Amino acid sequence: MIMKGKKGVILGVANNKSIAYGIAKACADQGAQIAFTYLNDSLKKRVEPIAQEFGSADYVYPCDVSNPDEIKALKESIEKDLGQIDFIVHSIAFAPKEGLSGRFMDISKEAFDIAMDISVYSLIEVVRELKPLLSENSSILTLTYYGGAKYIPNYNLMGVAKAALEMTTKYLAEDLGKDGIRVNAISAGPIKTLAAAGIGDFRFMLKWNEAHSPLKKNVTIDEVGNSGMYLLSDLSSAVTGEIHYVDCGYNLMGMPAVEFEDG
Ligand code: NAD
Repeated sequence: MIMKGKKGVILGVANNKSIAYGIAKACADQGAQIAFTYLNDSLKKRVEPIAQEFGSADYVYPCDVSNPDEIKALKESIEKDLGQIDFIVHSIAFAPKEGLSGRFMDISKEAFDIAMDISVYSLIEVVRELKPLLSENSSILTLTYYGGAKYIPNYNLMGVAKAALEMTTKYLAEDLGKDGIRVNAISAGPIKTLAAAGIGDFRFMLKWNEAHSPLKKNVTIDEVGNSGMYLLSDLSSAVTGEIHYVDCGYNLMGMPAVEFEDG
């Protein structure tokens, strides 16, 4: 039981297809006690049974990260119900639809600000607010995608947000290292989730990744969950500021191995 005795909070479960669900399952299977958050009342109905599944029915809290008061209230609730915690999972992203297809240069300032606030600044704010509860040797994990490192069609605004999130991970890692706190990101390959459904032509991304990754398949939330559990556990005690690819190796490809019929 690698996570026995560890307590943590997972932000970003929407349903049992969420990457955060895969991480929760891997951590709970290894003995962790988990608190969950939900964005709004309609998602509350989905998150509550999931929390129950993991023995966390009493640790389910509202948290819309665009509202600083809800982040503060989350800290108060966790402190009261769980006390000190050992890990935080930030598995949250949002960009208005206009930012996920079409011409990149047409993105409005309003859409840009919303995407950066919810997908990037929220990590900083959640970590700052919950920091007093974090034990020494605790671990923070966020989720990113290759579209933050290289151009991916339609990923547009979220690509810029993920680039900022990846550097935020590194700056936080330096900042919190002196307190014994590690901060890492998993760069997951494409997975069909609620958030992914908003990205233009997402099915093509899945097909492309499967065809061109070295392992010739797409990654599952269980596989991301297992890698997440490693980064949240003491097994990764010397790993921080890392962008860890869990993408069936796709990121190593400079050019797909395609044979043209005319040679
Ligand atoms: P998902 O839809 O299951 O999860 C996204 C979560 O973000 C939801 O739980 C939603 O409620 C939450 N959220 C959105 N706005 C919020 C707000 N204002 N306050 C609080 N929560 C809010 O989809 P997912 O694919 O599991 O996404 C989780 C993370 O993984 C995201 O950061 C996403 O960018 C990243 N990611 C996804 C893929 C993929 O292909 N699915 C690949 C790499 C990285």
